[in-house]
Amino acid sequence: MSTPRAGHGRNLEDLTLPEVRERVRPSSTLLWPIGAVEQHGPHLPLSVDHVVADSSAQAVAAECGEELDVWVLPTMSVSKSDEHSWSPGSLWLSASTLMSVVRDVASSASSTGAERLVFLNAHGGNTALLGVACREVRRLFGLRTFLVHPFVPPDHGGRSSSGANELGMGIHGGFDETSVMLHLRPDLVQMHKAVRSVPERLAANRHVRFGGGVAFGWLSDDFGPDGHIGDPTAATAEAGKQLFEGSVALLAEQLAEISTFNFGR
Ligand SMILES: [Zn+2]
Repeated sequence: MSTPRAGHGRNLEDLTLPEVRERVRPSSTLLWPIGAVEQHGPHLPLSVDHVVADSSAQAVAAECGEELDVWVLPTMSVSKSDEHSWSPGSLWLSASTLMSVVRDVASSASSTGAERLVFLNAHGGNTALLGVACREVRRLFGLRTFLVHPFVPPDHGGRSSSGANELGMGIHGGFDETSVMLHLRPDLVQMHKAVRSVPERLAANRHVRFGGGVAFGWLSDDFGPDGHIGDPTAATAEAGKQLFEGSVALLAEQLAEISTFNFGR
């Protein structure tokens, strides 16, 4: 399922033990892609967030991994997707399990001697927890920790590329994700099954809405039976290519700053 490796030689798991000792240094940056396996409506596979996390990490490592001394950790596929717990096939970890997994992987990754760890998160359901994990891992293991996202809207919405159609709510399986999948894995997209599924009543709210000032707990079947939230009908591979390449360029820029970030003490 994963994208063919770009041959950039920056995947940590491809090294031997002596190579890890020699090549991974305190100044190295560890990049940990985190995806999900969860329903994305009738037109997309469960693997969307895994594909996006994995492909983004591989693309950015190919672009600047050597120059910035980035080492990519294996992509984690299963994460906190409990908002889709109603749907068969969605695999998920509870918040406490995911926090334990993140803590253990970060602890073992710190044994390489690298001092920077970046979570590259492709699933909005993980964002809050990974924000907490940044401080937890910093305090427990002394790593400098960072959280980045491969493309907007990474999280709880408020914006999306096809704004008018989606009313700022293309947060899950909508125009953006569908376009990116048409670019990365067109063989897995069934456009003839794509339908618009936008919770219009939320758009009338000023505060309690995606991207509004009031956060609210939701499950993906709270908005209807389709499972996705957004309008994938106008998605194109060309738009996906632009979104993906723009996000990789932004990630490269962010990694450049991260790779030299210090607290200045
Ligand atoms: Zn997704």
